[in-house]
Amino acid sequence: MKCSVCGKEIETTFLGKINGNYVKSAGKAYSVCSSCFKVNKETIKTKINK
Ligand SMILES: [Zn+2]
Repeated sequence: MKCSVCGKEIETTFLGKINGNYVKSAGKAYSVCSSCFKVNKETIKTKINK
């Protein structure tokens, strides 16, 4: 699972959850790593939509 913003591989926990968050944009869910998720959500969406 790669981060939709920075493209880095997102680590998964032993429970299979990603070490990050999902951001919904235009009806799709994008995976975002925890460091990118600290940024404003609107900033993330503009980067995803590029
Ligand atoms: Zn990232």
